[in-house]
Amino acid sequence: MTRLQPGTPLRVDLLSKTYDVGRTPLREALSRLEAERLVVAISNRGFTVAPVSRAELEDLTKARSVVEIPLLLEAMERGGSEWESAIVTAHYRLSRCKTILEDSSDLSVDAWMERHEAFHAALLSAAQSSWLMRFRATISDQLQRHYRFLAFAPALRAAAGETDGYEEAMAALHKAQSIGPHTDLMEAVLDRNAERARLLMDEHFGYPLEVYAVEEGEAAALAARKKGARTRTHKKSA
Ligand SMILES: [Zn+2]
Repeated sequence: MTRLQPGTPLRVDLLSKTYDVGRTPLREALSRLEAERLVVAISNRGFTVAPVSRAELEDLTKARSVVEIPLLLEAMERGGSEWESAIVTAHYRLSRCKTILEDSSDLSVDAWMERHEAFHAALLSAAQSSWLMRFRATISDQLQRHYRFLAFAPALRAAAGETDGYEEAMAALHKAQSIGPHTDLMEAVLDRNAERARLLMDEHFGYPLEVYAVEEGEAAALAARKKGARTRTHKKSA
């Protein structure tokens, strides 16, 4: 399967050939994805894969906090032994995953994403507010796009020969994916320690933004260096 990067143009004629699907059902499918904000329509010229940005990640993180903290507090009040077992199981499954530093294959990253989402869903699963849950699912789908982009960006840049900052980016990803903060969060939740759980959740929400800052800082520094190199070359030839 081809991984389509954020912002990639989606040409209906090309997709139709690649997937051997008629243009009409394809346009219908793309319109549905547009409604879910997974693709973006560009006037009548077609579609692109929805782009990612630090501003959108910040906005989604804020929305996540507004929706998930009340859900978590509600779950901690209502949850019984079944909910507790579900959390412990989901935590165990997540702990068996390798972080991107240990295995950066697509399969491994996908497994981590899936188990990570399952762990966070388990924490909230005893809450009853169906509207908050619905908002959470929408926010989570959008966050997944950003997480995937952040996870694959350093390797894609390295493959394109841009290896500067690769180690810093991978270290930030490793920190965001490690099991420690998830264990702390689980313990606070199971202890029904609302204040600590809330603090840890807020800290937790910040990790993807930290990764973004590292990756963006590195990209900006790289662009500045390239620009500098171009200016120097230009001066030399002048
Ligand atoms: Zn997490």
